[in-house]
Amino acid sequence: MNFSRPTRPVDRVFLHCSASDLPEHDSVEIMRQWHKERGWRDVGYHYFIRKDGVIEDGRSLEETPAAQQGHNTGTIAICLHGLKRENFTKAQFESVIALCQAIDRAYDNQLTFHGHCEVSAKTCPVFDYKTVLGLTDAGERKNAADSSVQAEDQPMLN
Ligand SMILES: [Zn+2]
Repeated sequence: MNFSRPTRPVDRVFLHCSASDLPEHDSVEIMRQWHKERGWRDVGYHYFIRKDGVIEDGRSLEETPAAQQGHNTGTIAICLHGLKRENFTKAQFESVIALCQAIDRAYDNQLTFHGHCEVSAKTCPVFDYKTVLGLTDAGERKNAADSSVQAEDQPMLN
């Protein structure tokens, strides 16, 4: 997994879900279209993770996301396609774990990871991101020091 730090300061990563389970919405291009229809210049997220686990690039990492109202500065925003908790896939969780690991490592494991719901009344993401990513209450990755973390060790929902 390749990840290069943007030049803007980053100290937090936020997770989201797309609030759709429809296969025709399983693409960053649809998100981009929706967000542009809101008048934004680009999709609000930096990454979009499809049901098949493919990680698609969204907004440039050099740009602040439009994802957590009032809490966008200094963040990276990741969205997993899905609405119902039980419909997220093992492939998506493996991808988000690998992506967050790569991002955290690029910052010497100094980042914290959060759900959108921590700064919003929205139920987003709907999956148990703290368990999936193995987070402490402060949002630190518990196994950050272990570079050989196995995806199999993470509890999966399906
Ligand atoms: Zn969200």
